[in-house]
Amino acid sequence: MKLKILNNKNSELTVEITDTTPAFANSLRRTIITKTNTLAVDTIDLNTNTSALYNEILAHRIGMIPLKFKDTLKRTDECTCKGEGCINCEVKLILKKSGPCTVYSKDFKSTDKNVKPTNDKIIIVKLLDNQEISLEATARLGRWSEHAKWQSSNIGYQYYPDLQTSKDCDMCKICAKACPKSIIDTTKKIKLKDNYECDLCGKCVDICPKKALTLNKDRTRIIFTVKSVSGLEPKDIITSALKTLKSDFKELTDKIK
Ligand SMILES: [Zn+2]
Repeated sequence: MKLKILNNKNSELTVEITDTTPAFANSLRRTIITKTNTLAVDTIDLNTNTSALYNEILAHRIGMIPLKFKDTLKRTDECTCKGEGCINCEVKLILKKSGPCTVYSKDFKSTDKNVKPTNDKIIIVKLLDNQEISLEATARLGRWSEHAKWQSSNIGYQYYPDLQTSKDCDMCKICAKACPKSIIDTTKKIKLKDNYECDLCGKCVDICPKKALTLNKDRTRIIFTVKSVSGLEPKDIITSALKTLKSDFKELTDKIK
C-alpha cells in the first residue's frame, strides 16, 4: 500500500491510497464515524437566562460549538472515576455576559487552557439592555455515532478516474464543453488535464455522439478526503481511526486464539 498527500490545508486532507481495496477505505471511513472521540459541551448548569432564546435552544447552540482539546483527555465512561466525572474526563466552561452585546464563542472562560472553541466568532446570542446569561457548561468526549455535536469531520472517497478514447473518436470536442469542471484536454487527443480533479460524473461519456469514451474507475487507487469540523486535525482523525482498527483486529485475533 502506498500513500500520497494531494492536499493538506484549511483543515482538509486529501490522500491517494494505492494498492488498496474499497473495503479498506470504507472500514476507515466507518471507524472515523463510529469511534473517533471529539469534545463538545454535554450538560449545562444555567443560573440566569433573560435573553430572547429559550434555555433549550441556547443549550443546543452551545453544544454544537466545536472545541479544541488535548489527547490526554479521557472519555467519562472509560475514566478511572467510573463515570462520576473528574478533571481527567471533563472540562468546565463559564459564560457570563450582560447586554447590550453579542455573545460569541470567545466569551467562554475555560478551566483548562488547552480547551477552547475552534473559532472565536461563533455567535451564541444577542443580548439587549438588561438581558443577561450566566451558565457553567461541562464538556465531555463523545462520538459522532452518539450525537451530531461530536461529529469529527466530513469524509468522502472515490476511485481514481481514467478517461480512455476508442478509435471512433472524431475529436468533435462536445465532451469538453459538457464537462462541468472543464478539465478535458482536446489539444491532440481527448484526455483529462488532471485526473485528480475529475469526480467521475460521467457527463463526457453520456454526451459523446460516437460513444467513443470510457471512464474507468480504478478500485485499487482510492482518493480519500477528510475535512475536519471539530477540534481535531484531519491527520489525527485518520491516525486515531487506524489505531482503533488495529486494536479491534488484535482483540479479535486474541479471542480467536
Ligand atoms: Zn473521570
